[in-house]
Amino acid sequence: MLVAGGAGYIGSHTVRLLQEHAVPVVVLDNFSTGHRAAVRAPCVEADLADSEPLRLVFREHRPKAVIHFAAKCYVGESVVEPAKYYRENVVHSWNLLEAMRAADCEQIVFSSTCATYGVPREIPIEEGHPQAPISPYGRTKLAIEYMLEDYSRAYGLRFSALRYFNAAGAASDASLGEHHEPETHLIPLMLRVASGRSEEILIFGDDYETRDGTCVRDYIHVEDLADAHLRALRLLEAGRQQVVCNLGTGRGYSVREVLDVARRVTGHPIPARVVARREGDPAELVSGGRRATELLGWTPRRSELEQIVRDAWNFQCAHPDGFPT
Ligand code: UDP
Repeated sequence: MLVAGGAGYIGSHTVRLLQEHAVPVVVLDNFSTGHRAAVRAPCVEADLADSEPLRLVFREHRPKAVIHFAAKCYVGESVVEPAKYYRENVVHSWNLLEAMRAADCEQIVFSSTCATYGVPREIPIEEGHPQAPISPYGRTKLAIEYMLEDYSRAYGLRFSALRYFNAAGAASDASLGEHHEPETHLIPLMLRVASGRSEEILIFGDDYETRDGTCVRDYIHVEDLADAHLRALRLLEAGRQQVVCNLGTGRGYSVREVLDVARRVTGHPIPARVVARREGDPAELVSGGRRATELLGWTPRRSELEQIVRDAWNFQCAHPDGFPT
């Protein structure tokens, strides 16, 4: 199994789960945002920009399948630097698909996102909801979904596109977790305040049409996401052509509700200040989520918000500075 981007947040948890299930893994990562310390599997340091090392990886390791996490994932940055997102996400995914095609590797599990839906017309968001992304990030992920569909039809590629809602939490033993530079995500930022490394959390808008005016999101535990990848892989191995699923819990929490949980878990008052809305934030994103249960037999096991925040907090206490660079 080749895991592109296996040193990143969701990738590293998935690599570990694969290893626990005795699946042989090779990680391919350029370590631009991933962390060496997050992976205990054979690693090839290479960039998906470069076709030659990619070709060699397939020749040497002969993977039957690929899980593809390697991507840029900041919505705001993608608005300012779309060229970077089209290159890193679309062009590099194309390079990977071409390397797979040349090596007759026919299965791929791809990290997609609820950002491909854009501003939802209805909540919860089912997989059949129109995909009309509003950011370059979401558009690049949708472009890759289209590419997978077309390769599937023309070349027999079997693929899974897993549309994550809000990935959060950390490994239950606190050995792996979320470490982004810069950090932009709500839960780790709140926990930074609780650990005294920043002063306050900024709430991006409290005038949305939601129960308390703050944005509602569907937080899904990173270990539950990892589990879904393994299940999707098994389905492809069994011969299924396409597996396209949302991965969420079907339950949304507002920013203020997350804050209450973080205060309870950490015992810290976590001062908060309301500021202007962040551009590109829909009021509410909650997954319909039935298809993952039906197709993959998947149900989130660790995604109670309190559990997510507790695991993230344990990771932050165990690794106050994140992974060593
Ligand atoms: N958010 C916030 N303050 C922050 C970071 C995030 O109020 O410092 C809000 C953000 O507007 C969104 C929610 O928290 O409604 C989750 O944001 P995050 O960046 O964690 O994930 P996203 O929904 O962008 O994938």
